[in-house]
Amino acid sequence: MAILVLGGAGYIGSHMVKRLIEQNEDVVVIDNLVTGHQQAISKQARFYQGDVRDREFLDQVFTKENIDTVIHFAAFSVVPESMKDPLKYFDNNTGGMINLLEAMHAHHVNRIVFSSTAATYGNPKNDTIKETDPQNPINPYGESKLMMEKIMHWADVAYGIKFVALRYFNVAGAAADGTIGEDHNPETHLIPIVLQVASGKRDELQIFGDDYKTPDGTNIRDYVHVTDLADAHILAMKYLQTGNDSDAFNLGSSTGFSVKQILEAARVATGKEIPAKIAARRGGDPDTLVAKSDKARKVLHWQPQYDDIHEIIKTAWNWTQKHPNGFEDQK
Ligand code: UDP
Repeated sequence: MAILVLGGAGYIGSHMVKRLIEQNEDVVVIDNLVTGHQQAISKQARFYQGDVRDREFLDQVFTKENIDTVIHFAAFSVVPESMKDPLKYFDNNTGGMINLLEAMHAHHVNRIVFSSTAATYGNPKNDTIKETDPQNPINPYGESKLMMEKIMHWADVAYGIKFVALRYFNVAGAAADGTIGEDHNPETHLIPIVLQVASGKRDELQIFGDDYKTPDGTNIRDYVHVTDLADAHILAMKYLQTGNDSDAFNLGSSTGFSVKQILEAARVATGKEIPAKIAARRGGDPDTLVAKSDKARKVLHWQPQYDDIHEIIKTAWNWTQKHPNGFEDQK
């Protein structure tokens, strides 16, 4: 039986596909290529181009392929964009989930591992966030993902579709062999932007606000390596395949770094100066987001391999240097 990766041409999805193929899984990929890159998908996976909102298309894939488990990454994920265009997020993310679950139900596919987010917690009360903490998103992106979690819950109650929601904190880094990495257009994420400055593609980093309630005034985030993240999905898939109940897990390193600390770490990892200046706050940014992720370690037996931010940045720098124009070079 095959594993269906929705959004397998994206940053995290493509690392997921690579990891599954390395473990000899039979992999089917769906992606609409709106933000993903076909070159990022392992050649050993069977690729279908189409949209998660297109029920007829999903039916065709589910009819043709013998799908055991779905791993769902196909969503928009840019917080500032979601503030400007919330309906785009509710349509693709939340609407897409309804369509997907309907198709899964119709084709008797009863397991889904879902890419959720720390953004579902909003501005947390505690320094480190537990899975049982209140979920009060402060941006439409987080809201769209929280709605997806809730929809999966009721689809489990009614149809028995079991799910694992993995709430990611800040995903970073690239495959150790430098074959795939992060390539968004436009790029909005901190580490790739810092590395664009390091490689001379951008003049300077803008630090979005230094008056947050943190020791140095810049936002604190919890960075986790993309390969470690992919491995957590494989463990979550096995957890469901062995008959366990639906659940949610945080995935983070449990250590927070401020924007200024990331900048310093990138200066060390790259040996470049990386000019930066303080700019206005960006909408929708909570002060601090750090995971308590011992539940994933305990229940899923997740053991992240990368625990050093310099090592994480080095893998991203390796990809940036090998592919200065991202996937453009591989066309
Ligand atoms: N950030 C920044 N300058 C940039 C991009 C991001 O200061 O050019 C900050 C952003 O405000 C946030 C942190 O870096 O505090 C991480 O942002 P990113 O977009 O990478 O991830 P998010 O936390 O929004 O998922």
